[in-house]
Amino acid sequence: MKDNIVLQMKNIHKSFPGVRALQGVDFTLRKGEVHALMGENGAGKSTLIKVLTGVYSKDEGDIFLEGSAVAIHSPQDAQKVGISTVYQEITLCPNLSVAENMFIGRTSGMGQNWKKMNKDTEKILKSLDIPATATQQLETCSLAVQQMIAIARAVDMDCKVLILDEPTSSLDEQEVEKLFKLMRDLRSRGVGIVFVTHFLDQVYEICDRITVMRDGQLVGEFEIEKLPRVQLVSKMLGKELDDMSDIKGDQKAYEKKSGVAPVLEAKGRVSDAGIKPFDFHIDKGEVNGFTGLLGSGRSECVRALFGADRITGGTIKMNGKDVKIHKPLDAMKNGMAYLSEDRKGEGIVGDLSVRENIILAQQVLRGFFKPFSKAKQYEIADEYIKLLSIKTASADTPIKSLSGGNQQKVILARWLFTHPEYLILDEPTRGIDVGTKVDIQKLVLKLASEGMSVTFISSELDEMLRTCSRLVVMRDRKVVGELSGDDLNQSKVMSTIAGGDK
Ligand code: ADP
Ligand code: MG
Repeated sequence: MKDNIVLQMKNIHKSFPGVRALQGVDFTLRKGEVHALMGENGAGKSTLIKVLTGVYSKDEGDIFLEGSAVAIHSPQDAQKVGISTVYQEITLCPNLSVAENMFIGRTSGMGQNWKKMNKDTEKILKSLDIPATATQQLETCSLAVQQMIAIARAVDMDCKVLILDEPTSSLDEQEVEKLFKLMRDLRSRGVGIVFVTHFLDQVYEICDRITVMRDGQLVGEFEIEKLPRVQLVSKMLGKELDDMSDIKGDQKAYEKKSGVAPVLEAKGRVSDAGIKPFDFHIDKGEVNGFTGLLGSGRSECVRALFGADRITGGTIKMNGKDVKIHKPLDAMKNGMAYLSEDRKGEGIVGDLSVRENIILAQQVLRGFFKPFSKAKQYEIADEYIKLLSIKTASADTPIKSLSGGNQQKVILARWLFTHPEYLILDEPTRGIDVGTKVDIQKLVLKLASEGMSVTFISSELDEMLRTCSRLVVMRDRKVVGELSGDDLNQSKVMSTIAGGDK
């Protein structure tokens, strides 16, 4: 068995300022296996791979390839010892031919022998059953085929270890099947494949073993048959199935008034962000949520409701009336507000003051030709600073000098000031201190009791169970269930996330 091991990483440590990204992680890869590396965002998967491929230098630990210690200080070093990586974004040249892409950057010994290059390429394409020709321009191939060519290029460089970091995110089902066929083929030739993915179904379809990480630590290494899905989910989330005493929510059971149309009702809603069409509704004064693993499509669903991604189908009714929501402004005009997950990218305007950040969304709705007076702006800012206990020196302080939690409250103030009928909060409490977290949860429940409808997304299941009266469960970019009442407990949520019959 020992001889079967191609790669061993032992006791790997890596820290960034303020973050211990890897704390003594071990990883073992066998020849001819597909090995899933799993864990929620921030678990340390990418860091482990970057250490392995020489993008980062490790602080401590050893790497062995076929039993001998190797020193990897750069991606070139990794390449030389036979470790190849295909990143999620394809890093080939779209306007060159397939053959040129295959040999680019390593034509040294070949000179300009196009004929040989094309012939060799045809041979590789054929042997791996990739539907492309050597002289075809790369950009005329489908994304999946491009990905396969990137893999072929990596493999042809004599690789022993092939790393695929989320290669299937932008592929459709048929393309995934083609990729899997290629992976199986490589596996049978003895290549060890590390497969990073968020898709549970794919893991159980193609992988032999799974390594689970959480918070920079190794949780464990498992044979796929010995790790039922629900166990995998519980290990990723760090919740033991046994001691899942259900947390009693502070929230009273929500009671829907009969005969009243939902505040929002979506049917077959879908965007170009790779989710399956879904149905959804929320009633007046209700708090519900989307739950699932990171990458399961939670954010993409709420973005589709708000028109934040390109909408490709489905209908939306608000209070019983058909409405068109194709962009955020449409949603805002219909009484919706959306606090995005990416507050750096979409939320805060760093150089503007707390006051300016608060009035921004409402100012957009009013139109910039009807500005609020300075006096009114201060009045509004002070009101929300008080309401949300925002810790800031003054309303004129630039938002970038506030702590993360207080920045988050400013953005929340921005949306509350638009007086939405329906508020969507995507990870409003991520990365903020516990006190502020509780403040935000309480505020959500208070707003709901006053009649606002709120959809809440959080990676912390406890928080979701405390605030939501109904959970829409997602797996692999599909809505796979809906839980309420007695079903709102951790074990039920996790088994629904895990799905399958295991
Ligand atoms: P994963 O790929 O499992 O989502 P990562 O390896 O990307 O996790 O991240 C692990 C931790 O290390 C996270 O807390 C992340 O914020 C941190 N981290 C990763 N890369 C860097 C970096 N270049 N600088 C600072 N912190 C980083
Ligand atoms: Mg990553």
